[in-house]
Amino acid sequence: MEHSNAALARQFEQAADILEILGENPFRVRAYRNAARVINDQPQPITDRVREGFDPADLPGIGADLADKIREFTTTGHIAWIDDLRTQIPAGLLELLRLPGVGPKKVRALWQELGITDLDGLRAAAEAQKIQALPGFGKKTEQNILKALSSDFLQERRFLRPVGKQAVAPFLELLAAMDTVDRFEIAGSYRRGRETVGDIDVIITARETDAPAIMDALVAHPSVQDVLVHGPGKTSVVTELDIQIDFRVVAPESWGAALLYFTGSKAHNIVLRDRARNRGWKLNEFGLFDGKQCIASKTEAEIYDAFGLETPPPELRENRGEFEAAEQHNLPRLICIEDYRGNLHAHSTWSDGKQTLHDIITAARDEFHYSYWAATDHSKSLTVANGLDEDRVLQQIDEIAKLRETVPGIEILTGIECDILEDGTLDLPDEILSRLDVVIIAIHSKFNLSRKAQTERMLRAMDNPWITFVAHPTGRLLTRREGYAIDIERVIRHAAERGCFLELNASPWRLDLNDIYCREAAAAGVPITINTDAHHSRDLNNLEHGIAQARRGWLRADQVINTLPVPQLRDAIRRTKLA
Ligand SMILES: [Zn+2]
Ligand SMILES: [Zn+2]
Repeated sequence: MEHSNAALARQFEQAADILEILGENPFRVRAYRNAARVINDQPQPITDRVREGFDPADLPGIGADLADKIREFTTTGHIAWIDDLRTQIPAGLLELLRLPGVGPKKVRALWQELGITDLDGLRAAAEAQKIQALPGFGKKTEQNILKALSSDFLQERRFLRPVGKQAVAPFLELLAAMDTVDRFEIAGSYRRGRETVGDIDVIITARETDAPAIMDALVAHPSVQDVLVHGPGKTSVVTELDIQIDFRVVAPESWGAALLYFTGSKAHNIVLRDRARNRGWKLNEFGLFDGKQCIASKTEAEIYDAFGLETPPPELRENRGEFEAAEQHNLPRLICIEDYRGNLHAHSTWSDGKQTLHDIITAARDEFHYSYWAATDHSKSLTVANGLDEDRVLQQIDEIAKLRETVPGIEILTGIECDILEDGTLDLPDEILSRLDVVIIAIHSKFNLSRKAQTERMLRAMDNPWITFVAHPTGRLLTRREGYAIDIERVIRHAAERGCFLELNASPWRLDLNDIYCREAAAAGVPITINTDAHHSRDLNNLEHGIAQARRGWLRADQVINTLPVPQLRDAIRRTKLA
């Protein structure tokens, strides 16, 4: 059984963190970080290829020593040297790395200078204002640490959706191959499309007599690191990606009840259970009961039907109006991935993308069947991303004219992701912007402005006559950093008045606008555009996470620009131009 590249990369990433905390040679640290990146970038599982005879030393930047470690991981699922490395620092130190803005160098200073070894020690030192005196920290860092410690950021570990998906994938494969398994599905917040995942719940139906063998097989999977519970009804494991997965085996006739119960949300289930109680019924994970008699249990639809309700899609089960809509059989027909026709925000090697325009557009056409593509590389002030200046924008327009000949069958639009400067002006002149089809505006700098200043900066940029939409409007990076302070409701109102789109960025790090604001924007009449912000055609697979967020925001296909055919899309873009 293969191990995922993410699990292997995580080993090296952690080795780099520990070496850095130990104050080891920076070149050595960098070698492990590079290895992690190279491994993550590989499209196929490396352990699979190694088993077929591939030499990992053929990967860029992987020397003989790292190659040996990859071979060891392939056979054992462990790297003894890294296991040993973990014992060389206090276990709690790695927890500190979860705090935003706290990297291995800072952790080392906290440990060496103040003797801090865990989150409790950190909190005590921050409260005693000891941290601000450390070189490289300061008052602001200390306040940020205290803020993070008191938010729910650390209460519950959350992971990006693709990490959760990757953690559970090998188990789903295993279940699919077992004859004794009747059906199975992921439940919980993942099924509801939440932007991050905590534990993952998998519901399985099978005969009671087959349950122990199914659980034994799951527990024996090589990606299991730790077994928390091992029983025929419930089994919990921790995988090599450090994610907990709970498996539940129920009888086939309880499928609907179990799926409904473990999908949640809590708020949704409370309402449903109250409704059952009001009718003298009882609802639990086995079924809906009137006394001892089971009224419904086999499917979710059967249960909702018993209440006179249309079945709400899992993404709507948050008690945010879905019961009222379901009573009137008036639930929205939510957007689905098949409605999507093309991407309006992506990068190429012209800026910080990993593929040429030709290659990424060809893949979008052939593998993803897109009917359009907007080339929107970064603009010049994003120098770290090799942003385009005026001359290079014009050169790219020329290249696109040629690509329209060499890559037929997909409409190619010109465009730019233009930086919003601190004063709200754009970093390319109108003369250039007016020549482009799609002008995206985005904030990539000066995140620390006040909420008022940041909002005014954004509104001023939106007043430029040539812009099409605002990308990732809050700037957050999930599990990593909060967005800049901004009044999103004012941005939504302004977009409605001005007539431009707002983006739901489908990168799993971003997923903003979030569900609540998507719904608010759509209600205000602002079209939403969903884009993967791809830097490689692989990233186009992230669309599913953007669609999940859109569905949580109650969005229908007609509220999303990317569902339009080319002529209507062109019209909609033209209407955003005020000049
Ligand atoms: Zn951006
Ligand atoms: Zn971008």
